[in-house]
Amino acid sequence: STVTRSKLRIGLIPADGIGREVIPAAQTAIEALGSDIPKPEFTHLLAGFEYFTRAGEALPEETVEALRESDCALFGSVSSPSKKVTGYSSPIVALRKILDLYANIRPVLAVADVPGGKPRVDLVVHVTIIHKSNVLSVTDGLFRETVRAVPAGAAGRYDDITIAEQLVDSAVYRLFREPQIYDIMVAPNLYGDILSDAAAALVGSLGLVPSINAGDDFVMGEPVHGSAPDIAGQGIANPIASIRSAALMLRHLGYLKGADRIDSAVDEVVREGIFLTPDLGGSSKTQEVTDEIVKRI
Ligand code: ATP
Ligand code: MG
Repeated sequence: STVTRSKLRIGLIPADGIGREVIPAAQTAIEALGSDIPKPEFTHLLAGFEYFTRAGEALPEETVEALRESDCALFGSVSSPSKKVTGYSSPIVALRKILDLYANIRPVLAVADVPGGKPRVDLVVHVTIIHKSNVLSVTDGLFRETVRAVPAGAAGRYDDITIAEQLVDSAVYRLFREPQIYDIMVAPNLYGDILSDAAAALVGSLGLVPSINAGDDFVMGEPVHGSAPDIAGQGIANPIASIRSAALMLRHLGYLKGADRIDSAVDEVVREGIFLTPDLGGSSKTQEVTDEIVKRI
């Protein structure tokens, strides 16, 4: 980014479940960057279902106000009640609307091949629109036309991008059989959510996959996983999705060196395979994995 900042104001919203265990890990990773980024200034903010049960609201106005005063934010995860609760609606969905974060970007990367492994070829820029417009002709038809109109209205700016399209059911099938054929999938919320959980399985764990919610004026990192009530409170959640979300957020803001340092440290730890949480077959705690990553940063 071209903006020069003397400090970087980061809102932290751990929210529910393992969000409270992995967002502090991402904070430590950012702090370890030292002078590669402007001095981070963290603000701890409330939101979520647990907060709702205490306070009667899921997203207090103070949180929204504080985010408006911030440069960026990290969001953990929210628990969804198993049945409809009067007065409750998801704070992350609300924040995406309020802050106009229209794109949720979810890069799913296998950790770089170890030396001697097959080189991964990734040369073609290839965007695939995922839809079901043969059945949902109005809504998905609109989505498809809207995506197609982007290069058409861009006066040749995207000439190097080939747009393909595919029905969502066949996309799931091909994603499992030959994931390498996809570079970028563009999908509405529901298909994107399902496809990214599926893609997470291909790279080993939901605990590895980061995202950013991005708009023109704000960016919010958020792990793709949910609040994982089955493992919450045990100190064994994989912190990597959140740590990588911090890197993605910094990259989006233009702090490439800081982002690279975080990503390389994560890659090293995963490749070494010694300090891994149980979802990756290891027996390390969230804190141990975080410490190893921070040491390498
Ligand atoms: P939500 O409704 O919020 O999406 P969910 O329970 O459907 O919640 P997740 O919370 O994403 O979905 O969890 C899916 C599975 O993946 C669970 O078994 C959970 O323990 C596991 N999981 C998710 N995130 C992590 C993580 N960071 N580390 C380890 N396991 C994880
Ligand atoms: Mg989920």
